[in-house]
Amino acid sequence: MGAANAHYYGTRDPLGARGDFTTAPEISQMFGELVGLALTDLWHRAGQPASRYVEFGPGRGTLAADARRAMATVGLTPPVHLIETSPSLREHQARAVPGAEWHVDLVGVPDDGALLVVANEFFDALPIRQLVRTAEGWRERLVACQDTLFLPVVGNTVFDPVIPPAFRDAPGGSILETSPASVAVMRALAKRLVAQGGAALVIDYGYDGPAIGDTLQAVRGHAFANPFEDPGEQDLTAHVDFGTLAEAARAEGAVVHGPVGQGAFLEALGIGPRAAALAAAAPERADAIAVDRARLTGGEQMGELFKVIAVTAPGWPVPEGFAA
Ligand code: SAH
Repeated sequence: MGAANAHYYGTRDPLGARGDFTTAPEISQMFGELVGLALTDLWHRAGQPASRYVEFGPGRGTLAADARRAMATVGLTPPVHLIETSPSLREHQARAVPGAEWHVDLVGVPDDGALLVVANEFFDALPIRQLVRTAEGWRERLVACQDTLFLPVVGNTVFDPVIPPAFRDAPGGSILETSPASVAVMRALAKRLVAQGGAALVIDYGYDGPAIGDTLQAVRGHAFANPFEDPGEQDLTAHVDFGTLAEAARAEGAVVHGPVGQGAFLEALGIGPRAAALAAAAPERADAIAVDRARLTGGEQMGELFKVIAVTAPGWPVPEGFAA
């Protein structure tokens, strides 16, 4: 999954109507603006420390550009650090965010200054492992490859001793997902937040796990596809287990708020007044702006499946949108 996605992201711009999928910042400028203002508000209440803006997997750079513009209106103009492995997406980001600095992971991000961090639809792209309950107990689901044919097979290694007790006797065929890569990124991030101060907003589709369920999916041309077909030519993702990410952050001493639904989060941040202001400035776009808002916040659309957690350094205020 990691190798397939590295090739996939490294060789194209997958976003937008002509690509494979569309993300919240590509739907409306309101998304990046409100995320930027949430961070600014927090920074303000934290005493306006010297800060850096850090974004994981910035795609076309749209969120970073919208957030930066919104932050600047209230006096926050931090250096921008983009964590991106794809050369083709780095080119897009360079146009959207002049002056940014690029990194392949957090290691190269300077260790001075508080970190104001965003990760939107980043963790879902990191590789997962799947364990499956068979008649003989829990085994790993692996991928067999013969010529150009890829198929799921069941491995021999016994995993029963590491399965949480609640799932040990799950029915045959049950699947339990883990994402060691995601946990490693979250631990590194939380460690830096604890050491330097700051906060991270992590937004993605997912669940408050761990939980039973197969969420591996492939998307191509805005439709679901077979994940075992054409590796590297379609987007492979899994739903994000926010419960496990939160536990990883807490293990490093960070404070975690949420998850809350993306809809409730954006409403609390004021997407209503922002949509009204944009519609007043461009009445001919009022209907389109209302549609965009509904797409980002509606319960049947992105409002509930998409969730937000905030990870903060101890002593930092509670970010807006998360009940105290
Ligand atoms: N955040 C953007 C793009 C989401 S797509 C948006 O909301 O529109 C996922 C992004 O993560 C892409 O920019 C992809 O190149 C990047 N990415 C995927 N795996 C990565 C990895 N292991 N390290 C760094 N970036 C990665």
